[in-house]
Amino acid sequence: MNLGYEERDGALVVHAELRDPQTPTCTCPNPKVRKHGKRAVEFKDHPIQRQPVFLRINRQRYRCEGCKMTLMEDLPGIDTNRLMTVRFRNQLAIDAIPRTFRDAGLLNGVEESLARRIFHSYAAKRLENYTFELPRVLGMDEKVIQGSPRFVMGDVETRKMLDLQPSRRLLDLEAYLHTLDGREKVEVITQDMYWAYKTINERFFRRAMVVIDKFHVVRYANLAVESVRKSVQAKLANEGRVSLKRKIRLLAARPENLSEQGKYALKSLLSDYPAIGTAVTCKEWFYDIYQCQNRAEAERAYQAWLDLLPPEMEKHFKPILSFMKNRRWRQLIFNYFEHPYTNAYIESLNGLIDQINRAGRGYDLRYGNVKPLTELYAFALRLDDPETDVILSTMVGHGVDVSTFERDLVAGSFW
Ligand SMILES: [Zn+2]
Repeated sequence: MNLGYEERDGALVVHAELRDPQTPTCTCPNPKVRKHGKRAVEFKDHPIQRQPVFLRINRQRYRCEGCKMTLMEDLPGIDTNRLMTVRFRNQLAIDAIPRTFRDAGLLNGVEESLARRIFHSYAAKRLENYTFELPRVLGMDEKVIQGSPRFVMGDVETRKMLDLQPSRRLLDLEAYLHTLDGREKVEVITQDMYWAYKTINERFFRRAMVVIDKFHVVRYANLAVESVRKSVQAKLANEGRVSLKRKIRLLAARPENLSEQGKYALKSLLSDYPAIGTAVTCKEWFYDIYQCQNRAEAERAYQAWLDLLPPEMEKHFKPILSFMKNRRWRQLIFNYFEHPYTNAYIESLNGLIDQINRAGRGYDLRYGNVKPLTELYAFALRLDDPETDVILSTMVGHGVDVSTFERDLVAGSFW
């Protein structure tokens, strides 16, 4: 009940009291609760036109004669711990979702630290009942959020994100995985070549087959082309250097996906720069290893690729040569041909991650991870990319025809 208001130091103080006060009950064996004076308490509420507002309530005190305890009148709609109304507290938490804590604080006339604390408890409460089951095919990847790589885990088959952890350090991953039940149900894990994933997967998922995500593998073939382009470019006069730099995107594309015009541009570029042509050919043939139908065929295709790789290309393709030399990595890479799963689903997270990154540094990740998670869970992740089917159905096509590769290499062109 509103009993009038006053202004004090620029704030609006509204006097209020409960319409029908309830006498509290005491839980002791001999409860005998009596009124015991009143005390004025102020609770912060929504600002009105930027003016801070307080509810001033004469709160009834009680005393139990049985146990000598002091009891307070119950105040519905009031968070007595935080000295604010529940509606104001909830508004603060909701305002802190799309904003930094600083902005949410400014908007509501409170300190940044208070906005942060309120958001944390709100988020923890929302996540309290969040559970998920480990899937049959588990994806492990990372996304850089505010400068640090975060551990992302998803269900590859349903393309849903399951969890986001602030760190992917080995110790943190171990502590986290210890808390997960049903690890024995996981049959396949897709991961990149981050050693800590390999370590934990060997330890926590002994039954699962680990597959190195193919996009993380073929990426190095694109990097090799880039490396060749840079070395060619460095030897050119200014003009050629600039024009070659403009071709970065052309070289990054798969030739088969280019328009007729693009194909023509690429062809003439490669005839102008034979070293780049060789690099692109090697890259394309490396990609083609993934067209193989089974592990044995892929192993042979890789060996053929390796045998035919021109010596001058070796330093550019060195990352591929070295991880393939490692027996364990190589085995995990070729596991793809038994379980052709990739982490492509994770690409659909990018838009969301960008959004988090734009929200700025006030976004606290220890709990900030909570928000996108619940939101994501609500809308099953989908890849809307028209290339989805291409990406997800890679087990098509043919084995590598070595003689064609050889001919292409010698001709300096991949057509
Ligand atoms: Zn009592």
